[in-house]
Amino acid sequence: MNWDYIQPVKISFGTGKIEDLFDILSDLNLKNGILVSDPIFKENGLAYKVLDYSKGLITTIFSNITPNPTVDSVDECADIIRKNNINFVVALGGGSSLDCAKAAASSAKTPYSIVEFHSGGRKLGNEHLPLIAIPTTSGTGSEVTMVAVLSDPKKGIKAPIGSPNFYPAMAIIDPALTVTVPKKVTAGTGLDVLSHALEGFWSKNHQPICDACAFHAIGLVFKYLLRAYNDGTDIEAREKMCEASLMAGLAFGLPKTTGSHACSFPLTSKYHIPHGEACAFTLDAFLRINKNAEGGRVNDLCKKLGFKDAEEMADKILAMKKEMGLKSTLEEAGINENDIVELAKLSQHPNMLNNPVDMSLDDIVDLYKSLK
Ligand code: NAD
Repeated sequence: MNWDYIQPVKISFGTGKIEDLFDILSDLNLKNGILVSDPIFKENGLAYKVLDYSKGLITTIFSNITPNPTVDSVDECADIIRKNNINFVVALGGGSSLDCAKAAASSAKTPYSIVEFHSGGRKLGNEHLPLIAIPTTSGTGSEVTMVAVLSDPKKGIKAPIGSPNFYPAMAIIDPALTVTVPKKVTAGTGLDVLSHALEGFWSKNHQPICDACAFHAIGLVFKYLLRAYNDGTDIEAREKMCEASLMAGLAFGLPKTTGSHACSFPLTSKYHIPHGEACAFTLDAFLRINKNAEGGRVNDLCKKLGFKDAEEMADKILAMKKEMGLKSTLEEAGINENDIVELAKLSQHPNMLNNPVDMSLDDIVDLYKSLK
């Protein structure tokens, strides 16, 4: 088995770490930065606190960002960066804000719209502004990946774009920032973590270092997600979910995701299901399909994690979805049986080719039909 491993992001983890921002920026010799923030933090004041922590090194805030960030938001942010001679970017928010910031930090160094790179076939060069990523959800692991997932409403697509440029220079993970995450978002993002870890593990490109991260992350999700869901102020549970999210980001970053993520893109763009919930929608079904791949290594993983077998872990995932009020049936997701073939076609994203069990169009149709 041949494999390569790289993880270039400096990581600083711990409650209160965000207060060290000035020292972190000074050590990196950064001046005149932009804060790319989820709009909610302008409302609750966290964005202005971050400006204070930077002691004047951040000069501008951009917050015109929606969940499933659009190419238009990236272009608007990149324009502000160009016009204000901004030298670095700090991203504060969930995956949506981080991904918008990652893309803008690169496209701002070109005269082009991000659309040229997202779907126009143009290749990004190496130039980009340094980025500090501060996640406020425990879900995407975007703070350690080289991917940004963007939506282009005009073309009706949501798709990832990858570049080594997108690795942040530094990730500051401060669990205290996640206590305000609403219950529904805690549920969806928590199962996004589980999807990343399981998919990284069973990916055709799996490798030992990422496997170890996946094992660690999966154990933490089963132990702490329901606790964080039931009591958002349970700081130990929040901290452990942040650890799981980070480790799961490391678990899938190189092997890449597989079937559940391939299905999540149309489930989000066509059926408006939030990202993590959309990944979880098919996760237990893919676990049942993939359990015997490569000599049963997924089944073995489930046993090592204390489950009787993969079927029991899949049952547990389904039970967690139901307990946390997430969609698990076609009816709950508003998917009409007549639309399944179209949905299955849209689910044939390149990530599906990374699934350890090959999935024909008929297989994907059968998978969706089983979600009753
Ligand atoms: P998000 O960033 O879209 O945020 C979800 C909601 O939670 C928003 O309404 C936001 O305002 C709110 N929120 C965020 N943090 C909060 C906090 N601390 N307190 C209160 N509310 C808060 O959600 P997400 O799941 O973190 O990110 C999803 C996006 O990330 C999707 O577009 C997905 O495709 C992408 N993604 C990227 C990667 C990657 O490697 N780049 C990996 C997985 C997913």
